[in-house]
Amino acid sequence: MNKLMNDEKILIVEDEKKIADIVRSYLERDGFNVTIADTGKTALHQIKKNFDLIILDLMLPDIDGETICSSIREFSDIPIIMLTAKSAEDDRIKGLGTGADDYVIKPFSPRELVARVKAHLRRTKKNGKKVLSFNNSLLVIDAPSMEVRKNREIIPLTSTEFRILLCLAEKPQMVFTRLQIVNAVQGYDFEGYDRVIDAHIKNIRHKIEDNPQKPVFIKTVYGTGYKFIGIPD
Ligand code: CA
Repeated sequence: MNKLMNDEKILIVEDEKKIADIVRSYLERDGFNVTIADTGKTALHQIKKNFDLIILDLMLPDIDGETICSSIREFSDIPIIMLTAKSAEDDRIKGLGTGADDYVIKPFSPRELVARVKAHLRRTKKNGKKVLSFNNSLLVIDAPSMEVRKNREIIPLTSTEFRILLCLAEKPQMVFTRLQIVNAVQGYDFEGYDRVIDAHIKNIRHKIEDNPQKPVFIKTVYGTGYKFIGIPD
């Protein structure tokens, strides 16, 4: 067995014991340190400890996953993968609107989930060593510290939002398709990714643009995708 010790701590928030136990055993096999919370209340208590990633079920007995996700986002940019039984695309997009990085639809393959966990952790670490500055230091993207500052104020972005912004801003004026963006930031593509990217871009614009209707950083290229139009300093 290919046992890797990677010491990273994963919190699984799921009340269905069977599912939580299966995911736990797959993650532990790869050397992850796993904690399970079976209620939203326990999760919000546990999250104060240092985790590297959260797997969050949407349907919990006490507090719903979206609410937990929003609460976590008030103080942390930790990668969050949502588990959802909801198949309607709008519900999934709503999940991303609350700040989740990714979602997996039940029933899912534990192996696929573990692959996504690894992809998110890998990408959180590899954000490069650059500090990019645009529009006379109006927008600064500090890759090593994963910080984005606008007018010297830190803009809280989720790790996926950060990676999307970095991917575009590294190549100003270059047009990226949604598929290129999803491949660059997630390392895989999935059904419905185009609307997912649109949802993330919408979130990013609300955070970095003065007027999201008239963006000066991320421009929509109709029929194609997006490009970064900030002017490098
Ligand atoms: Ca559940």
